Amino acid sequence: MPEIAQAHTPMMRQYLETKARYPDALLFFRLGDFYELFFEDALTASEALQITLTARSKGDDKVPMCGVPHHAARGYVAKLLEKGFKVAICDQVEEPGKNTIVKREVTRVVTPGMVLDDQVLDPREASWLGAVALAEAGGGLALLDASTGQLQCGEVRDDGRLVDELRRAGVRELVFARGADAARVDAIARAVGVPAARRDDAEFERGEEKLRRHLRVASLDGFGVGGLAAGLAAAAAALAYLSDTQRAAPAHVDRIARLRTDDVLLLDEATRTNLELERTLSGGRKKGTLLALLDRTVTAPGGRRLAEWLRYPLTDLDRIGARLDAVEELVGSAVAREDLAAALRPVADLERLLSRLVLRQGNGRDLRALCGALLALPALADLLAARGAALLREAGARLRGLEALAAHLDRAVAEEPPPTLREGGIVRRGFSAELDEIVAIADDGKGYIASLEAREKERTGIGSLKVRFNKVFGYYLEVTKANLHLVPKEWERRQTTVGGERFVTPELKSFEEKVLTAEERRFALEERIFEDLRAAVAAEAARIRTAADAVAEADAVLSLARVAAERGYARPTVDDSEVLEIVDGRHPVVEAVLPDGPAGFVPNDVLVAARGAPECEGHGAVLVITGPNMAGKSTVMRQAALVTLLAQMGGFVPARRARVGLVDRIFTRVGASDDLARGRSTFMVEMTETAAILHNATRRSLVVLDEIGRGTSTFDGVSIAWAVAEHLHDAKGCRTLFATHYHELQDLARERPAVRNLTVAVREVGDQVVFLRKLVSGGASRSYGIEVAKLAGLPAEVLARAREILKNLESMEVDEGGHAALARGRRRRPDPASQLGLFAAPADPAAGEVAKDLRGLDLDALRPLDALNLLAAWKKRLG
Ligand code: ADP
Repeated sequence: MPEIAQAHTPMMRQYLETKARYPDALLFFRLGDFYELFFEDALTASEALQITLTARSKGDDKVPMCGVPHHAARGYVAKLLEKGFKVAICDQVEEPGKNTIVKREVTRVVTPGMVLDDQVLDPREASWLGAVALAEAGGGLALLDASTGQLQCGEVRDDGRLVDELRRAGVRELVFARGADAARVDAIARAVGVPAARRDDAEFERGEEKLRRHLRVASLDGFGVGGLAAGLAAAAAALAYLSDTQRAAPAHVDRIARLRTDDVLLLDEATRTNLELERTLSGGRKKGTLLALLDRTVTAPGGRRLAEWLRYPLTDLDRIGARLDAVEELVGSAVAREDLAAALRPVADLERLLSRLVLRQGNGRDLRALCGALLALPALADLLAARGAALLREAGARLRGLEALAAHLDRAVAEEPPPTLREGGIVRRGFSAELDEIVAIADDGKGYIASLEAREKERTGIGSLKVRFNKVFGYYLEVTKANLHLVPKEWERRQTTVGGERFVTPELKSFEEKVLTAEERRFALEERIFEDLRAAVAAEAARIRTAADAVAEADAVLSLARVAAERGYARPTVDDSEVLEIVDGRHPVVEAVLPDGPAGFVPNDVLVAARGAPECEGHGAVLVITGPNMAGKSTVMRQAALVTLLAQMGGFVPARRARVGLVDRIFTRVGASDDLARGRSTFMVEMTETAAILHNATRRSLVVLDEIGRGTSTFDGVSIAWAVAEHLHDAKGCRTLFATHYHELQDLARERPAVRNLTVAVREVGDQVVFLRKLVSGGASRSYGIEVAKLAGLPAEVLARAREILKNLESMEVDEGGHAALARGRRRRPDPASQLGLFAAPADPAAGEVAKDLRGLDLDALRPLDALNLLAAWKKRLG
């Protein structure tokens, strides 16, 4: 960026001065009908937006420049946000022509986490900014959604949890103190995957005091956040960021809540990903996720609330019960569901309308939309008040008290107001007599002149009399020479022309003044009325927020009820026990996408209980599930996790019957995926996630492990899987589902009392394998790898060769050693004694040589075929 030198034009100096204040944002500089970008910003934006880069050279040295039409700016801003940029919008704040150079100011800064524009926001997604006040480890975090005014804060003990909570909320941008440790800030921002802004340390200081002042309360204890010093520091910083970027006091943030980190079901990022809650494993955002299936909400706030419920399932039996009661009541009546949906439909996005209006970014249309929503509340309140479930009745009660504001807005705001104040027409006729008169003059100018002309014609008898207008004289009466003798005395002569003379009258003068100023006065008056209405809305902000909250809650309940009714879900029993009993459970998403319809889904039972719980005797605590690939192991395990999650969010579940003893945390380790972006191999990812499970699982956790140890060699894999399963049984005793293709693991059931073997049944028909999808007790005896490979379309000659190799391997079984037996997938556990036996020095000298060979072998680098050849050679040597 060049020096602000005298060589520049005054306009360019103004630009450079403004830009200097926003070094980290792209500056959209309003010039006439365009927003222009210069210098570095122009290079960046032209590339990011694929728009033409030009140069400005008038008086300035060649300056790179690009621009977007002001009316299309929103779309471009949205694109830049998506790419992680910030945009400072610099507008003209006075009419051109008053000064040599128009006054310009930055009216707002739009950042990924600070968006209020309804054309940029996804109506069904919250837009969180995350502010973090780092402590020794972990720290305070605040979540602020500027578009709805929601603010929450909490504290966590380590950076891992910090990342989990920030990702769970889905923050778009992070804010840290400038003085915070750069390495930690980088690590957290990278793990969360969003841009991080650095702000002055002072913004993170005296948080408690700032919040008290902002909320105008003597103590924050009433909000449940008293004493959260670090959390409140983060909250204060989030608020400062909001008022700084939006250039307005964040009056719509009129409360703060404690971020639920301890009394909710914990879901780490791996689990949220594996269970495909809001995103599929392939990255899809909508289709194929649990949220997409569950979201049958009618309103946008309802949609956001449902997503929140899915992110924060409960661990409080009363709250779960209250939601279940409400859902049950609506499941019971299709009419009630229909009525509620119909009553919710006209209720717009109250929260976001309110926020825009309070932050002075709203327009007449926002006022009308708010009015329409408020007018719809009483009918909705009546409907909810008549319900039996407490949650619904209470929601109804929270919708009252806004009738007067609704009526006032309805009287004041036009049915279809224009988008900007400058166009006029926001206020309804009949609301203000003064305004109506002004509008009549402005609109009826022509009619008025016609009538004046007619009147004067009649009075004077000048048949050719005309009222005309020009820029120099304004309105005048034109009289031809022949008629000059008829002109009354009181007319004032203004000008003589070739054909006649021009006059004005006092009436014409005063009319002229009225007309010419009418437009201006109209805008000014409309602006004043708009401002009054906005203030009236702001005065009721708290009540509107409360109502919006109730609408969202009722809508989310309705959504759960609709899905439950349409898909045949059942009310789960949620209690304090340590069991998970699912009878005829289904996977909600898989059953919905089966090509032949949900009827093709084979329901399964999952019965498991923590070790030592009375039910454990029958069910077991660790279920080892075997079965060929594609049999349905992952599906049955994921469905158990999803049923638990649904139950704890207060929803019905896809099962004939289910009992869920409260779970404090669901852990899943499913499938193997590379995280190459972070430089971690498949195996490393798998082990890191497994480590997190073993460290953090409690007795109340539900652990779902799929194919642990797959990412390494067979021996390593079996050993790790075995030890992990053993540890979960012995040290944790928590409800565990453990799918594996290592049949050896079935032997664990003989040694550990609470381990049960299950398998997903298949039937062999000739050389085909038929998946029965039924989970039955017992173990798999074969892997059917070749059959599954055949299903996948492996060429016939490769399949034939594989069968041949398999047969060789089977005939080469080594009695006392696990090697060959392991390779062909026979049941065998890696008994330390038998392994020692294999490696112990035998009496036979030939065997000694074989053992030596074996010791020198790098199993990880050994290809199966080479192994086979080696085995054959050894066998020969041993005779
Ligand atoms: P595995 O984990 O054993 O390899 P998956 O659980 O991934 O197998 O299941 C493979 C496919 O089988 C699923 O994508 C699904 O389409 C189908 N499937 C699984 N379970 C069932 C079931 N109970 N009823 C019907 N189809 C199922």
